[in-house]
Amino acid sequence: MFTCKKIYRDIPFAHRQHLHAGHCSLIHGHNWTIILTFTSSETDANGFVVDFGELKYLKAWIDEHLDHACLFNESDSEKDPLLQQYGSLFKAYVLPNCSCEGLAQHIYEVFDPLIRAQTAGRVWITEVEIEEDSKNSAAYSPK
Ligand SMILES: [Zn+2]
Repeated sequence: MFTCKKIYRDIPFAHRQHLHAGHCSLIHGHNWTIILTFTSSETDANGFVVDFGELKYLKAWIDEHLDHACLFNESDSEKDPLLQQYGSLFKAYVLPNCSCEGLAQHIYEVFDPLIRAQTAGRVWITEVEIEEDSKNSAAYSPK
Protein backbone atom coordinates (compact mmCIF):
# COMPACT_ATOMS: atom_id res chain seq x y z
CA MET A 1 0.00 0.00 0.00
CA PHE A 2 1.23 3.49 -0.87
CA THR A 3 0.34 6.71 0.89
CA CYS A 4 1.08 10.36 0.30
CA LYS A 5 0.00 13.49 2.12
CA LYS A 6 -1.24 16.83 0.88
CA ILE A 7 -1.05 19.67 3.39
CA TYR A 8 -2.96 22.95 3.22
CA ARG A 9 -1.59 25.40 5.80
CA ASP A 10 -2.58 28.77 7.24
CA ILE A 11 -6.24 28.77 6.30
CA PRO A 12 -7.94 31.44 8.43
CA PHE A 13 -11.47 30.84 9.61
CA ALA A 14 -13.57 31.07 12.76
CA HIS A 15 -15.83 28.76 14.70
CA ARG A 16 -17.49 28.36 18.06
CA GLN A 17 -18.46 25.42 20.23
CA HIS A 18 -21.88 26.55 21.40
CA LEU A 19 -22.18 23.84 24.08
CA HIS A 20 -18.77 24.45 25.63
CA ALA A 21 -18.78 25.85 29.16
CA GLY A 22 -15.66 27.94 28.59
CA HIS A 23 -14.38 30.48 26.11
CA CYS A 24 -14.69 28.07 23.16
CA SER A 25 -18.38 29.04 23.04
CA LEU A 26 -17.35 32.51 21.80
CA ILE A 27 -16.74 33.07 18.10
CA HIS A 28 -12.97 32.97 17.63
CA GLY A 29 -10.52 32.27 14.85
CA HIS A 30 -7.53 30.06 14.14
CA ASN A 31 -5.14 29.50 11.32
CA TRP A 32 -6.01 25.96 10.33
CA THR A 33 -4.08 23.18 8.64
CA ILE A 34 -5.71 20.34 6.73
CA ILE A 35 -3.59 17.23 6.17
CA LEU A 36 -5.00 14.64 3.77
CA THR A 37 -3.55 11.13 3.60
CA PHE A 38 -4.20 9.49 0.25
CA THR A 39 -3.83 5.73 -0.12
CA SER A 40 -3.59 3.47 -3.13
CA SER A 41 -2.54 -0.08 -3.79
CA GLU A 42 -0.97 0.97 -7.09
CA THR A 43 0.60 4.14 -8.40
CA ASP A 44 -0.22 5.98 -11.60
CA ALA A 45 1.93 6.01 -14.73
CA ASN A 46 4.22 8.59 -13.11
CA GLY A 47 4.69 6.46 -10.01
CA PHE A 48 2.50 8.80 -7.94
CA VAL A 49 -0.35 8.01 -5.58
CA VAL A 50 -1.85 11.35 -6.63
CA ASP A 51 -0.50 14.07 -8.88
CA PHE A 52 -0.48 17.06 -6.52
CA GLY A 53 -0.88 19.35 -9.52
CA GLU A 54 -4.29 17.84 -10.18
CA LEU A 55 -5.78 18.59 -6.76
CA LYS A 56 -6.71 22.19 -7.49
CA TYR A 57 -10.40 21.37 -7.04
CA LEU A 58 -9.73 20.48 -3.38
CA LYS A 59 -7.99 23.83 -2.78
CA ALA A 60 -10.86 25.54 -4.59
CA TRP A 61 -13.36 23.84 -2.26
CA ILE A 62 -11.37 25.00 0.77
CA ASP A 63 -11.17 28.54 -0.61
CA GLU A 64 -14.88 28.64 -1.39
CA HIS A 65 -16.21 27.14 1.84
CA LEU A 66 -13.65 27.65 4.63
CA ASP A 67 -11.26 30.51 3.88
CA HIS A 68 -12.34 33.55 5.96
CA ALA A 69 -15.54 31.70 6.90
CA CYS A 70 -17.26 31.27 10.25
CA LEU A 71 -18.22 27.69 11.02
CA PHE A 72 -21.33 26.84 13.02
CA ASN A 73 -22.67 23.57 14.37
CA GLU A 74 -26.00 22.57 12.83
CA SER A 75 -27.48 22.43 16.33
CA ASP A 76 -26.37 25.95 17.28
CA SER A 77 -29.73 27.64 17.84
CA GLU A 78 -28.17 31.09 17.98
CA LYS A 79 -26.71 30.98 14.47
CA ASP A 80 -29.99 31.61 12.64
CA PRO A 81 -30.97 34.83 14.43
CA LEU A 82 -27.35 35.98 14.25
CA LEU A 83 -27.10 35.36 10.52
CA GLN A 84 -30.54 36.85 9.87
CA GLN A 85 -29.47 40.10 11.46
CA TYR A 86 -25.77 40.22 10.59
CA GLY A 87 -25.43 37.78 7.71
CA SER A 88 -23.50 40.27 5.59
CA LEU A 89 -20.67 40.12 8.15
CA PHE A 90 -20.24 36.35 7.89
CA LYS A 91 -19.31 33.79 5.32
CA ALA A 92 -21.15 31.10 7.23
CA TYR A 93 -20.48 27.41 6.81
CA VAL A 94 -22.71 25.01 8.75
CA LEU A 95 -21.72 21.43 9.47
CA PRO A 96 -22.71 18.76 12.03
CA ASN A 97 -19.85 19.66 14.38
CA CYS A 98 -17.18 22.29 13.88
CA SER A 99 -14.69 20.92 16.40
CA CYS A 100 -11.34 19.75 14.99
CA GLU A 101 -12.68 16.21 15.12
CA GLY A 102 -15.96 17.12 13.46
CA LEU A 103 -14.23 19.12 10.75
CA ALA A 104 -11.84 16.23 10.07
CA GLN A 105 -14.79 13.87 9.61
CA HIS A 106 -16.65 16.38 7.44
CA ILE A 107 -13.64 17.00 5.19
CA TYR A 108 -13.24 13.23 4.85
CA GLU A 109 -16.89 12.82 3.84
CA VAL A 110 -16.62 15.60 1.24
CA PHE A 111 -13.17 14.83 -0.18
CA ASP A 112 -13.06 11.02 -0.19
CA PRO A 113 -15.77 10.67 -2.89
CA LEU A 114 -14.08 13.41 -4.94
CA ILE A 115 -10.66 11.74 -5.02
CA ARG A 116 -12.25 8.34 -5.71
CA ALA A 117 -14.15 9.83 -8.65
CA GLN A 118 -11.10 11.64 -10.00
CA THR A 119 -8.98 8.46 -9.93
CA ALA A 120 -11.69 5.97 -10.97
CA GLY A 121 -11.48 4.38 -7.52
CA ARG A 122 -7.70 3.89 -7.51
CA VAL A 123 -7.13 6.34 -4.60
CA TRP A 124 -9.00 6.90 -1.36
CA ILE A 125 -8.44 8.91 1.81
CA THR A 126 -7.41 7.05 4.96
CA GLU A 127 -6.96 10.01 7.30
CA VAL A 128 -7.80 13.68 7.59
CA GLU A 129 -5.89 15.55 10.26
CA ILE A 130 -6.86 19.06 11.29
CA GLU A 131 -4.62 21.44 13.21
CA GLU A 132 -5.89 24.53 15.06
CA ASP A 133 -3.00 26.97 14.95
CA SER A 134 0.17 25.13 16.01
CA LYS A 135 -0.98 23.67 19.31
CA ASN A 136 -3.95 21.33 18.85
CA SER A 137 -4.90 18.72 16.33
CA ALA A 138 -7.35 15.91 15.79
CA ALA A 139 -7.80 13.33 13.08
CA TYR A 140 -10.52 11.22 11.52
CA SER A 141 -10.02 7.86 9.88
CA PRO A 142 -12.83 5.69 8.55
CA LYS A 143 -13.10 2.43 10.51
ZN1 LIG B 1 -11.26 27.06 18.40
